[in-house]
Amino acid sequence: MVKIHFFGAAGRVTGSNFLIEGSKARYIVDCGLFQGEETIPKDNEQPFPYDSAQIKAVIVTHAHLDHIGRLPKLVKEGFRGPIYATAATADLTVLVLKDALHLMERHHDQEGRAMLYEQADLDRTVAQFHPVPYHTKTELLCGDSFTLYDAGHILGSASVLLEVDDKKLVFSGDIGHWPSVLLPQPESPPGADVVITEATYGGEEREDPEDRLTVLKKALAWTIERKGVLLIPAFSIERSQELLFLLHELFVHHQLPRVPIFLDSPLAIEALEVFERHKELFAKKIQTEHGRRDDIFDFGSLALTPTVEESKDINDVPPPKVIIAGSGMMVGGRIAHHLKHYLSRPNTCLLIIGFQAPGTLGERIANGRGAVEIAGAYITIRANVVRTGAFSGHADNSELLRWLQGTEIADDGKVVIVHSEPGRAKKFQKELIGILPGRTIETATYASSLEI
Ligand SMILES: [Zn+2]
Ligand SMILES: [Zn+2]
Repeated sequence: MVKIHFFGAAGRVTGSNFLIEGSKARYIVDCGLFQGEETIPKDNEQPFPYDSAQIKAVIVTHAHLDHIGRLPKLVKEGFRGPIYATAATADLTVLVLKDALHLMERHHDQEGRAMLYEQADLDRTVAQFHPVPYHTKTELLCGDSFTLYDAGHILGSASVLLEVDDKKLVFSGDIGHWPSVLLPQPESPPGADVVITEATYGGEEREDPEDRLTVLKKALAWTIERKGVLLIPAFSIERSQELLFLLHELFVHHQLPRVPIFLDSPLAIEALEVFERHKELFAKKIQTEHGRRDDIFDFGSLALTPTVEESKDINDVPPPKVIIAGSGMMVGGRIAHHLKHYLSRPNTCLLIIGFQAPGTLGERIANGRGAVEIAGAYITIRANVVRTGAFSGHADNSELLRWLQGTEIADDGKVVIVHSEPGRAKKFQKELIGILPGRTIETATYASSLEI
């Protein structure tokens, strides 16, 4: 008998953390941070509800904080085993956790918030990573094993087929929105007794991702015509790199004038190197079109501004220009000083491409407030605010269904819905009952467990 415990992303989206108990060993899939809600700091400060030192191995699906953010805490609490992930996930994890630690130190110094872990725990975590390629069965203990499949969500992202005792467990990780700009189509693992699936957008269809280029082209043309500034708040991993790729496309294939583009995010700039290093993971189409070139992200009008001084100097560059800066929800990060500068100008286009959580500055702007407070100043919004879901990195309802149907689920198999708001999870559950007759479809709640 194998038991799966749901200790995160259960009844909510963030904090992915699943404990798998087999007859020979205990494993963890993902160890993410709880994010977004009011109670967060406290949730993350709680000790893990299991003995971290007893865990034999951790498998990580991808390098988003809600899947990796508590890894160093697990190590701090005594976990000493290998952490398996693709090489790209391992590389991106180092950058994302380093960035998270700096942010945590700042919150600690300014607001007295608790430190979840220290630099030494992070260093140890990095040293415990074991990169593994996709489609390669890796032995764990006494015949247990796992295989990674490309989830097409961010670079290096994976779904996991975990074989424990005689059971096949599939963990979706986060599934990508197809077609992706850079990545191949999400793959379904071949077979499963139980599938633990995300349902971030379960029961909901999203904008066609093919619209990305059209939306970006329109916003850029609008900005150029008015000699303005195109501001794009973006998440550092994947979205920023996608934007650069598409902007380059617009210059090369759509004859838009080559205006200066600033990538104003230290994390996105560092991630760019990881993307360059792992180009073999890009979709075949990108690899053949750009195969002989080393410069997918290195083109004439692109400027990288890693330092604060360079960031400030962007103001001196005459428009039209494009500024891509974090954070994606406009909370902190360099986007704040650009918003302060440009949001009140009618020739600014603010292109909102990411999810804006309630209570964030991004949400207030997106919801059409006339003025907002940014770093103590009231700014009247005169900019052209454009919002699109086409850049979403998450599969919508029909894509999730397609992914699930690609896996042969045992006749008496089970599907457990995680990584979803409760309302969406219920909607998705109904969808699944319709297409997977005979299987048990459940929604996970915190600390619930499943025996198979
Ligand atoms: Zn993700
Ligand atoms: Zn996630």
